[in-house]
Order: sequence, then structure tokens, then C-alpha cells
Amino acid sequence: MADPSSFAPPSRIVVAGASLAGLSAAKRLRQLGYSGDLVLIGDEPYPPYDRPPLSKQVLTRRLSTDTTLPQPRDLDIDWRLGVAARGVDLTARRIDLANGDALDYDRLLIATGTRARPWPKPDEASIDGVLTLRGRDDADRLVPRLAASPGRVLIIGGGFIGCELASCCREMGLAVTIVESERVPMRRALGERIGAFMAGVIRDHGVDLRLGAMVERIEADNAGAVAAVMLKDGKRIGCDLIIVALGAVRNVEWLEGLGLLTSARGLRCDAFCRALRANESPAPGVFAAGDVAHWPLVANDGHLVTVEHWGNAVEQARMAAHNMLAGDITGMRIHQHLPDFWSSQFGLNIKCVGLADSAEEMAIAQGSVEGRRFLAVFGRKGRTIAALSINSARWLPAYRALIEEGAPFPPIEGAVDQPRMRKEAAGFASIDT
Ligand SMILES: Cc1cc2nc3c(=O)[nH]c(=O)nc-3n(C[C@H](O)[C@H](O)[C@H](O)COP(=O)(O)OP(=O)(O)OC[C@H]3O[C@@H](n4cnc5c(N)ncnc54)[C@H](O)[C@@H]3O)c2cc1C
Repeated sequence: MADPSSFAPPSRIVVAGASLAGLSAAKRLRQLGYSGDLVLIGDEPYPPYDRPPLSKQVLTRRLSTDTTLPQPRDLDIDWRLGVAARGVDLTARRIDLANGDALDYDRLLIATGTRARPWPKPDEASIDGVLTLRGRDDADRLVPRLAASPGRVLIIGGGFIGCELASCCREMGLAVTIVESERVPMRRALGERIGAFMAGVIRDHGVDLRLGAMVERIEADNAGAVAAVMLKDGKRIGCDLIIVALGAVRNVEWLEGLGLLTSARGLRCDAFCRALRANESPAPGVFAAGDVAHWPLVANDGHLVTVEHWGNAVEQARMAAHNMLAGDITGMRIHQHLPDFWSSQFGLNIKCVGLADSAEEMAIAQGSVEGRRFLAVFGRKGRTIAALSINSARWLPAYRALIEEGAPFPPIEGAVDQPRMRKEAAGFASIDT
């Protein structure tokens, strides 16, 4: 049965999660002429800030830990900061806050993102000198520790954040070890071949990169400060600071048992950004965007994805804002953004469009790997699905267009400035996508 109240223009929109997606939605709502109440609830005490610099310029103190995102003066937001949303009544259209307040809503956007996955053994995770990095408070703890010149920093996890952290450490002249269980770093996003290339770059910069290795135990000294890690193979590595960089956990626990479809992969929503109930029908008036959302990506044959990238948080939030004001489905638009991300580390500028992790094949399409300036293309079922540039982003827009139009793989062959292309296995095969 259609929900008659969803056709009424909203007079109060509540956003749970006051970060990049939350702010992007708020800005878009006002741009679209929404003039009703707009409430942003955030459990952190800060106005929305930018996270990417926290693992880059902030650690080397080229930027302060205050990376507040710019916002227009006239947003007219009722800010509820430093207080968590703790439940939703889907029938009454009411959200409950941890301080006992309750707010009625006509539309609700859930943008509660993710948090850093902690070290799984709580007694070891609480040792002095074992840190994670997700937010501004984490950076506030980490910056002085790094500035105090620890003898060795040990990073558990060689994903993007772990490698960016290692890059900062080397820039600061610190000895650093990465312990990564995969055969290459950043394999989940880059695949085997590019990951192997990155391993070479990382080692050339003086990082002690331990691949195929796992931390078994974290040890403290007599004063209770971190002293070493014990690897599964029995090797012991002494260190004074440990950064756990094991990826992210989605902030959905507060929604469990309320009728919404949640899992470790996030809050399920449809391509219109509408949050789904357990029976997969849209929850009236409830939308989701950003890192917390688990949604069908048109460019990925409609397979469900979670995308933890800055660009998607902005675009999905803007689409959710549009659809929150659209009235009914006939006015709504599909979120069909092609995911992209960037990283800077070890003097390299890495950019990617599309989701490479479901690729079967790859090829170097421009530049040369030896010259550390190239563009790789990724294909699946004969189609080009992603392109990744290393210090050569100028080629990316052309490849983005080809991916969007579903070009064959490889997309451009025989151009005068191209290397001879050789298709290779993409190296994601054993990854559960
Ligand atoms: C260190 C770091 C570096 C990164 N670098 C890059 C990069 O180089 N390139 C790139 O593309 N992306 C990068 N990202 C990813 C990018 O920052 C995220 O995709 C983006 O922040 C997602 O925004 P979001 O608003 O969806 O979620 P988040 O930024 O996670 O915000 C969610 C907010 O909701 C709050 N919240 C959680 N639960 C509740 C609750 N119950 N009630 C109220 N509030 C709640 C959280 O505390 C948080 O403030 C990086 C992320 C990190 C952490």
C-alpha cells in the first residue's frame, strides 16, 4: 500500500551522522529550496570535518587536526552535536537521542558512517601506545606520539590508511614496520599486480614491510606501555607505538532490532537511497548515504556494494537529499555514481575510477610501471570497469567516460603514446566481493 504521508512536502528533516555525507545532504537540501526544520545529530562534539587529511598532511603537521569542512553561513541547521542517535520508531517517525530527547521527522537520513576496527583482544587494545585512526580525537592522540620520535612505529594492516600512515612516518624520519597478512599491500583495492608494484615502492622508501605475516599478540613492558608484537610465525618485533589499521566497522548497531535491514555490510538501501525494511520494502521517509550504506550499484551490474570513499559520500548524500524532497518515486533519481578515490603516499598520487575489485583482467594502458607513472585498466566479462592512475591522473577523465559507456576491455588500443598492451590476471580472484 502506498504511504500517503510520503507525498506531503517535509517540514522537518533529521540527519543522523554529522560528517561529510550529513553536511553534503544538508547543503543540497537548502540549495533545492527546502526551508523547513533541518536537524543534524552527531555523536562527535565537532562540526563536520574532513577525514582524508588525517592520515596525510595532519600527521606530518602540515595541517592542524582541525579540518572542519567549509559550510555556507545560511544553512540554518539545528545542530545536536556530542549526542548519539540511539533508536528510531519507524511507525511514529521519531528518532531517540542518547540524552533522552526525541525528535519527530518527516524524512530521516541515516549517515552514521563507520568507525575504526579495533584490535580484537580488548586487554591488548587498551595497552598504552596502541592507537587507531578514524577521527579527529584519534589524530589528536597520534600527532604528539609521532612528534615524540618513537623508536619504531608498527602498523598492523597494509591497506590504504596503513600505507598512508607509514608514508607519513618515513617523511618524519621514523622507523616503521607494516605487518600485512596478504601477499601484497592494498590488495583488496589494487589487486595483485599493482599491489606488488606498491610493495616495491614502499620498501624503497625504507619501510620494513612484512607480507604474509600476522600479529599474534601485543606485549607491554613493566610500565604498561607497548613494547613489541609477536608474529604468528614466532618472530618478535620491538616497537614503541602501534597503529591498528584493520579497516572499518559500520555504525549500524543502534539500528538493530528496529525493523531496518542491517548487517555487517551496512544499512541496506535501494538505488534511490531509500533505507529498506527487513522485508526489503522501503521504510517510509527513511534514507541512507555514505559509508554506512549498502546499495545496488548500476555500474556493477546492480550488485550490492559498500563504498568507503569521499566522492560517494558526497554524491549519494546529494541524491538522497533530492529524493527526500521528490514526493514519490516518479520524481526520484537513481544514484548511479561511478565510485572513485584517491590516495597520496610515498610521493605517488594514486587515483582510481570504478570498482576494480571485481575485475578478472588488467592491463597497463598508458605510461610505464618502471617509470612509476602509468595507468592500468581493469576488465570483467569483456568490459572495462575501472582505471587506476599512478602519477598520471590527466588520463583518467578519458577512461572514466569509456567506463561509463561500457567500453570493451581493453578500451583503447594502438594509440601512438601507448605501451604494447598485455592482458594479465587482475589478482582479485580469491577476494570475496
Ligand atoms: C583517515 C582517513 C583517510 C581517508 N582518506 C580518504 C582518501 O584519501 N580518499 C577517499 O576517497 N576517501 C578517504 N577516506 C574515506 C572518507 O573520509 C569517507 O568515505 C567519508 O568520511 C564518509 O563520510 P560519511 O559521512 O559517510 O561517514 P563518516 O565520515 O564516518 O561520518 C559518520 C559520522 O556519524 C557519527 N555517528 C556514528 N554513529 C552515530 C549515532 N548513532 N548518532 C550520531 N552520530 C553518529 C560518526 O561519529 C561520524 O561523525 C578516508 C577516511 C579516513 C578515516
